[in-house]
Amino acid sequence: MVVIMQEGATEQQIQHVIDRLVSMGFDIHRSTGASQTVLGAIGVPADFDPRDVQVLDGVGEVVRITHPYKLASRAFRPAGTIIELPHGVRVGGKEVIVAAGPCSVETPEQIGLIAERVARAGAKILRGGAFKPRSSPYSFQGHGEKGLVMMREAADRAGLLVCSEVMDASQIQMMLPYIDIFQVGARNMQNYFLLRALGSVKKPVLLKRGLSATIEELLLSAEYIMAGGNHNVILCERGIRTFETATRNTFDIAAIPVIQKLSHLPMFGDPSHGTGIRDKVPPMARAAVAAGADGLLIEVHNDPEHALSDGAQSLYIEQFEKLMGELRIIATAVGRVIA
Ligand code: PEP
Ligand code: MN
Repeated sequence: MVVIMQEGATEQQIQHVIDRLVSMGFDIHRSTGASQTVLGAIGVPADFDPRDVQVLDGVGEVVRITHPYKLASRAFRPAGTIIELPHGVRVGGKEVIVAAGPCSVETPEQIGLIAERVARAGAKILRGGAFKPRSSPYSFQGHGEKGLVMMREAADRAGLLVCSEVMDASQIQMMLPYIDIFQVGARNMQNYFLLRALGSVKKPVLLKRGLSATIEELLLSAEYIMAGGNHNVILCERGIRTFETATRNTFDIAAIPVIQKLSHLPMFGDPSHGTGIRDKVPPMARAAVAAGADGLLIEVHNDPEHALSDGAQSLYIEQFEKLMGELRIIATAVGRVIA
């Protein structure tokens, strides 16, 4: 960290800042210029808050150089993380992994049909919600454990893995036998109690970016899970809330390369929630792969008009099949592959 003192800061003020920094655990390297003093502070304590220095008399600017997250940072594993899943699925390697399925698990027939078709098109993971975080308490809330049973059966028959949302720490043990990846939804990205609980499970976590979360906040949420011992975290850009109303959310594609530089964790894109409109999903899925996404989360439904949730952004199965063909071409162009 660098502390730039104001022009004209008194020697007494500078000494006070140095004393405070030393008491916080920093080593100080002082550089005294003609008009300004700059303090290099080495060894940022884990719980350091830059505002505690910013408010001291005579301080002009505080510039943090290291990131507040450590385990999630690229420096922790420069070569990148590959998450090994059953069936030889590897997330974070050369292959772009596609997770596809309905927003909500509705019936055994619905999830069975979708699973079979998306698997045939090249998806590796079946996505689907059994616990749904809906904006209205009167909307369909999901079938709970019954939905997970339906999903596991459908996935096993189709040779897919299962990714489903956990909304509360109390659901973790019950969900373990049914799922391969725990999804943490955008609304729970900062549910630190849930994140901590997922730190001690042995299955990977797909962590979605919150509606108004910065990239740093997303990485700090990943750090919560990793600090508990679970290093298998997949990050997911799913659109953020901006002033724009033409799409449901603003799909922040730039977050993909930005995060890949900052972190070693695999990075997915979710163009379905990212746009909220069916015909916008394929172009944004293509763009996410072109931008270097390690995987995609795509909502697909056999009968979107009658879907119990997110029908308007769910692809028809045929649209998904066509999209997979396009994604294969784009993947090749950026040195990746899709099964
Ligand atoms: C979902 O994936 O169905 C979902 C609810 O996503 P998000 O948490 O990103 O809104
Ligand atoms: Mn959805």
